[in-house]
Order: sequence, then C-alpha cells, then structure tokens
Amino acid sequence: MADIGKRRISILGSTGSIGVNTLDVVNQLGGQDSFEVVALTGNANVALLAEQAKGCGAKLAVTADNRHYADLKEALAGTGIEAAAGREALIEAGDREADLVMAAIVGTAGLAPTLAAARRGADIALANKECLVSAGELFVRAVEQGGGRLIPVDSEHSAIFQCLEDGQHGAVERIVLTASGGPFRTWTREQMAGVTAEIARAHPNWSMGLKISIGSASMFNKALEMIEAKHLFDVHPDQIEVIVHPQSIIHSMVGYRDGSVLAQLGCPDMRTAIGYALTYPDRPQLNVERLDFAKLARLDFEAPDEVRFPALRLARTALERGGVQGAVMNAAEEVAFHAFCDGRIGFLSMADIAEQVMDAMIAYPAASSMDDVFAADEEARRRAADIIAKTEMAA
Ligand code: NAD
Ligand code: MG
Repeated sequence: MADIGKRRISILGSTGSIGVNTLDVVNQLGGQDSFEVVALTGNANVALLAEQAKGCGAKLAVTADNRHYADLKEALAGTGIEAAAGREALIEAGDREADLVMAAIVGTAGLAPTLAAARRGADIALANKECLVSAGELFVRAVEQGGGRLIPVDSEHSAIFQCLEDGQHGAVERIVLTASGGPFRTWTREQMAGVTAEIARAHPNWSMGLKISIGSASMFNKALEMIEAKHLFDVHPDQIEVIVHPQSIIHSMVGYRDGSVLAQLGCPDMRTAIGYALTYPDRPQLNVERLDFAKLARLDFEAPDEVRFPALRLARTALERGGVQGAVMNAAEEVAFHAFCDGRIGFLSMADIAEQVMDAMIAYPAASSMDDVFAADEEARRRAADIIAKTEMAA
C-alpha cells in the first residue's frame, strides 16, 4: 500500500534532459521520503535507466526498445525492480497507479503512454508538447474525462499558467510567448543553409535534448509551442503572439484587457517549471540560481522573422486550417529532423518538407478519435519520407 502523504509519481522519458532534471527535483523535495516512484522509462540508455531506478527505488523500469531488454533485466537482477520492454510495456508504465505522471518522452512516441496515464486519471505534468500538437482537443478531453489535471512543464507554458489569474480567463487579451531566437537568431538564410546538426544543436541559453535544441535553431520548437498554447489555454490563434527575447529571462507573459501584462521571470533552468508542476498548487523550495537584476542590467526584445524562420508561419497555417494539420506538421517535421541529423537533407529543408506535406494533406478529414490521429501521423511520415527519398535521388 502507498504511504499516506507520499506522492506516487512515474517519469516517462526519465533518461532524457527533462527526466534527469525531474529526478533532481524529486531528490531536492525529499526523495523517497516524499515520493514513491512507480515507473521510469527510457530508450537505449539502459545503464542510466537502471541506475536511476535503483537510486529512487522505482517499482518498474521500461525500455522502449526490445533489443535492450536483456541488458536492462541483467542490470536490475536481484533488486526486485521489474524490468520490461517495448511499446505495450511503455503504455503499461503510463497506466500504473501513479498520482502524477511526468510526460517527458520526446516526439509522438510519448503520445500513447501519456494518453494511458490521462485516461486513468493521473495528473499529467506535460513536457512532451507533441502530445498536444498532434492530438489537440482529443488529448485535452482525455485528461478531462480521466479527471486529472494537465500541468504544463514547457517553460513558456508554465509561465503562462502561473500568470493566468484564477477566474480571470475572460479578461485575457493575449498570450505572449517568448523565444530566445536560438543560435541562428541573427543569421541569414544563406548562412543557415549549410549548417550541420552539431552546429545547430548549440543553444545559447538552455541545455536540452537534441530534438528541441535543433527545434530552437529552426524555431520549429516555437511553432509547436504556439499550437501547444492554443490547446492548453483555449485561446483563439489571433491571441497568440511570439516575441524574440534573447536572454530567456522572461519565460512568457499574459496580457489582460486592462492593458496589464503579467510575466514570469527566472534563470533559464527547467527545474523551476518542473518543480511547479510536481507540487502545484504549492511552490516548492528549490535550489536553483536566483536572478540578479543588477548583473542582468537589461532585457532585449525583437520581432520574430517569419521569412528566415518559416516554421512560425507554418504554425499559424496549421492553427488556421485546424483538423489534423498540427499532427501532420509535427510528424513531417519529426521525419525531416531525423533526416537532417543523418546528414541527408539541409537545415532549411526541414520546414520545406513540413510545408509540402501539410499542403498535400490539406483535405485530410479531421480526427474524431485517437486512431484517426495516429493514421494522419503515419500518412504524414510516409509522405515526408517519400519527399526526402526523391530529393536524395535527384541530388
Ligand atoms: P531527450 O532527448 O533529452 O529525452 C527524451 C527521452 O525520451 C529519453 O528518456 C529517451 O530515452 C526517450 N525516448 C526517445 N525516443 C523514444 C521512443 N521512441 N520511445 C520511447 N521513449 C523514447 O529530450 P528532452 O529534451 O528531455 O525533451 C523531452 C520532451 O520535453 C520533448 O517533448 C521536449 O520538447 C520537451 N521539453 C524539453 C525541454 C528541455 O529543456 N529539455 C524544455 C521544454 C520542453
Ligand atoms: Mg519551451
């Protein structure tokens, strides 16, 4: 039986950047005295997964990749921690009895296990923004029907969540998402054309996983966040603004009808947003760097450039078109991202491919079930892969 007062938590994607930071926050908040860790999941890095599971006394450790099952089982031999592998086991991890599930898998791979947790009624601490971009209202409804809360972990959305005053939703005029602008903020398209993944992943302010780092360089991450904001906060697309703020100190803002703008500020450290999600509605005591305003001296802002960063324009298009366009944009870009990392296509081709697939699937029917979402996702992946193969043949 669970100890009374202990929060039961599972971390989907515990071996990633958000996952590691989540375990750090769990430790800062008392570790096993405060939390009972139900399940952890990872992918290829089973050594870290096993070490994490032993360190926090997890009941279950799952690797998404069947090929690593034997290694995981061996690493956990004699500990009493259950080892499992594969897609179904991942869903089972989401479905186990945790009160709160940190959704920190990268990409659409996180959708099915997060959905299982949502349907069961767990509170969802959502880092895996692709869930909302792909499944939108269906995902929000699944959380609502399950009876759990949806608490954003993405720093911008955590900021907005914190700036939304209770009962004042009707007074919200606009949501202002801040964007660092990434490593290519001041670069021309010609300069960006030839960059490698190694160059593109070097984010100026945040240390993060590979996909989101590349997504920051192309601003595709901000595109996903615009769609994420639409679904999280139920605002009209016209109410979502993006402003480039290179220092990443203001994490985002909410503008109200009286002209007031509320902002949430902090050092760029995901542990603040993670901690907030883990203890909401309380604020935890956290050992993170404090802002030194005198040292900071200034905050800068620039209008975003949708010509150099077409991903922002694609997000608006996806929002205007509705239906499965978010799922399509996300899936096509995910395929293009892998092709870019493998050196098969150039940096600028990622947005081109996403746009081509979105246009080709403009008449695709809206999703009325999760199966429809998965079907649209698959079709978009297939089309993106075709375009990439044709481009390679032509080259
Ligand atoms: P990461 O690449 O560092 O970690 C991803 C995790 O998912 C790892 O545990 C990995 O093992 C697992 N994983 C990878 N492929 C998988 C698959 N096919 N099936 C199951 N598991 C798989 O990524 P991250 O930077 O921690 O980002 C995780 C999510 O959080 C992303 O959706 C990202 O956009 C979001 N996010 C991250 C940050 C950040 O600071 N890193 C900030 C905001 C939002
Ligand atoms: Mg973010």
